[in-house]
Amino acid sequence: MVSFDEPFFTNVYIIFGNEHVFVLDTFLGNDPMKIVRHLIEDEGCASMPLIIFNSHADYDHYWGNGAFKDASIVGHEHCRQRIISEGEASLVKYANHVRGKVELLPPTRTFQEALRYEDEEVAFFHTPGHTLDSSSCFDDKDRILFVGDNVESPIPYLNHANFEEYIRSLESYLELDWKLIIAGHDPPLRESHLIKRNIDYLRKFKDWSIDLGALSSSELHRHIHDNLKTIRAELIRSKDRQAAMKHLEEAREYTTLKTLRP
Ligand SMILES: [Zn+2]
Repeated sequence: MVSFDEPFFTNVYIIFGNEHVFVLDTFLGNDPMKIVRHLIEDEGCASMPLIIFNSHADYDHYWGNGAFKDASIVGHEHCRQRIISEGEASLVKYANHVRGKVELLPPTRTFQEALRYEDEEVAFFHTPGHTLDSSSCFDDKDRILFVGDNVESPIPYLNHANFEEYIRSLESYLELDWKLIIAGHDPPLRESHLIKRNIDYLRKFKDWSIDLGALSSSELHRHIHDNLKTIRAELIRSKDRQAAMKHLEEAREYTTLKTLRP
């Protein structure tokens, strides 16, 4: 695992297989990927075929793809489409996060459900949640599960009101026999507490039973200023419109009260 601290904590993971080297996510450009190249060389694996995997098409997970022109790039079909349609805009919006050269290379080898490298006991599979294209990787040999941004502390970032499929994806993680989970922006997890807490948040959100007063300040901030803001329009258009409006109003009052408090 290679972790970067700047501009925000992010993990990239390398699997040294028998015949392939897999690089899971490529962070913010060619500069941080130099470390990954060196590590592969140090292991004596520079001549092995390289497989890059993008867990999803958020910029901080694929901007370094251009550092691996000789590799095949694996990702969900929708991840490829998002990089093609959203890539240029991400470069403008997050220009100050560019690290070295960035070439927008979308996945060249896509899948809908799953893609398996049987001999290496490595599988990539679709786990929609944080984004609709979110996918995960299970290394059965080392029992390492790489989940991109689907698992996050203290609560996940939502981009859609896709609570049910997100919960199903997280529950599928609990069924796998992993010894370590690597998430995009958290230290490695040896236990399932955080997954269970993430599921609990999504269930409560789906049922409109979140008690705002019971959330920690960081949870409250992410819930109101990130998640509610991002999926507001989708919630209002949904069949749960009334409950959504009520919750949005509650959240608005709650933040007003908080700011008024001395
Ligand atoms: Zn991310």
